[in-house]
Amino acid sequence: MLGCAAMTKIIGIDLGTTNSCVAVVEGPGTQGRPETQVIPNADGARTTPSVIAFTTSGERLVGQVAKRQATTNPANTIVAIKRLMGQKFDAPEVVEHRRNTAYTIIEHENGDAWIEVDDKKMSPPEVASFVVGAMKEVAESFLGSDVAEAVVTVPAYFDDAQRQATKDAGRIAGVEIKRIINEPTAAALAYGLDAKGDQRIAVYDLGGGTFDISILEITEGVFNVKATGGDTHLGGEDFDAKIVQLLAEEFKAEHNADLLGDAMSLQRLREAAEKAKHELSSSVETEINIPFIATSSGGPLHLERTLKRNELESITRDLIERTITSCKAVLKDAKVDASSVDEVVLVGGMTRMPAVQAAVKELFGKDPNKGVNPDEVVAVGAAVQAAALGGEIDEVLLLDVTPLSIGVETGGGVFTALIPRNTTVPTEKSEIFTTSVDNQSFVPVHVLQGEREMAADNRSLAQFELTGIPPAPRGVPKIQVTFKVDANGLMSVEAKDLGTGNVQSIEVTPTSGLTQDEIDGLIEEGEKFKETDELRRELAELKNQAETLVYTTEQALEGYGDLLGEERVKSVREDLEFLKNSIGIGSDVEVIRDAYGRLENATFELAEAMYGTEESEEA
Ligand code: AMP
Repeated sequence: MLGCAAMTKIIGIDLGTTNSCVAVVEGPGTQGRPETQVIPNADGARTTPSVIAFTTSGERLVGQVAKRQATTNPANTIVAIKRLMGQKFDAPEVVEHRRNTAYTIIEHENGDAWIEVDDKKMSPPEVASFVVGAMKEVAESFLGSDVAEAVVTVPAYFDDAQRQATKDAGRIAGVEIKRIINEPTAAALAYGLDAKGDQRIAVYDLGGGTFDISILEITEGVFNVKATGGDTHLGGEDFDAKIVQLLAEEFKAEHNADLLGDAMSLQRLREAAEKAKHELSSSVETEINIPFIATSSGGPLHLERTLKRNELESITRDLIERTITSCKAVLKDAKVDASSVDEVVLVGGMTRMPAVQAAVKELFGKDPNKGVNPDEVVAVGAAVQAAALGGEIDEVLLLDVTPLSIGVETGGGVFTALIPRNTTVPTEKSEIFTTSVDNQSFVPVHVLQGEREMAADNRSLAQFELTGIPPAPRGVPKIQVTFKVDANGLMSVEAKDLGTGNVQSIEVTPTSGLTQDEIDGLIEEGEKFKETDELRRELAELKNQAETLVYTTEQALEGYGDLLGEERVKSVREDLEFLKNSIGIGSDVEVIRDAYGRLENATFELAEAMYGTEESEEA
């Protein structure tokens, strides 16, 4: 192989709705399975929240730091950008998204859904590029070298516009997406199921915000998605919400205080609920402890409660049941019996919940594949494909199929499919076009994707005109148009005038997506941002922590200050004011860090006084 040493690694990225993950193949591994490495981010976490935020001072935050400030800055925090990729402003998914998110979604002149934060208008690929860029940086600091190429995964049902938008996100972030693969296919690859011969696989994917179930068949190395389904608004967040609701109702009954109305309390409640949910996957009970969650006339209030696994199971039973109902519908769609599925693969952090695993096992009558972390399995599969493309491991014979039919609009607005759905890619299909009136110099061609009978009901991919046809009676000119779908499921069009032999260059104006100029502009802007981003992130994170410390210290002083004595209270208050001021003025990390340390020490003393007294009262 040429120039192997100089080649940079191709990385695998799972660009998720709630979390993203990046992985690489480290070596050939043992027993024919490549050695994969999931790359931890700067915080040491193996997945990074797909959350982007803009602070009041214009800083851009990505990941955990953006997620943490989401509740207090909802209008400038962009979550679940994946739902908007390649979408029209009036698509049902976008209408739903507008209802559920606080940031502004506006209509671009080409009909696409765009995001507006302050005065800045951004396309979904641009916003998603911030996440891709963050994953690229994570990989670069781990590998110690530049990364320029990636394999990225998308849901199996993503259409051409959504795949195109994903590719654009990569380009803007300075990453060439070498291959787009379907998420369930990646999950199967991570387990090396492709090497096991022909089989039928169910991939059950319960993530933070979406549920997907796919039935795949591998026949002679070709991955065929037989059917996909699920619920784009069902995921871990709904499980958290059930816990939040339970805790808030109990708290209200006991203290007559509303925790849901206050952004800060709600945020703390949500974080505690998610943590408890995680713990209950490995323990049968867990302590929820949120000090100073609210205040009453009698002083500060704390939330303390033991939550048992069976309580969680009973309040979330209906959610799990909904996933099973979707599975049954998809099995029916694929005309497959649950018992005929050879392998079951679990994807998504929520599948760590024992009750979820039990429900899946009961439906399929077999133990699901375990061993690869469910929130990393898609990225690992992407890395395996990346290593194959990079020549590091033997080529994985990986072929996907078109998720939807591709065709053209013909007389009377009818949709005529040229490449039916489930056709193995890459593929191409030619069609002869002609004129309908004498001396017609052009023929309009409208390319669409979908399963509906009428063109208007399907998704428009591109419209173009075949021009420069020499004068001739109608029906005489013959222009052969070739539609190609590449291995990524992306489409391109070529035309040939069979009369003259000329190959026409067709101007395909994508009805969705960005122009090359727009992309180039965004790449430049990204470069500019890069240098200052790291510092901004650190500062924002520190401010965030400092604000929480100020808040809890104020609450603690109010409730327990008298245990400390006047002198100490005065000095704690000074430290408190000092930290507040240093956050207020702004941007010196060192000053804030120093002030934070001082106040933190002071609060330790306060805590000692508090707990010391409580113990002696009990004695
Ligand atoms: P994903 O989108 O795949 O990253 O899934 C994230 C979801 O999985 C979030 O709702 C997490 O709270 C949830 N999750 C992660 N770890 C666990 C765990 N140990 N037990 C239960 N849920 C988890």
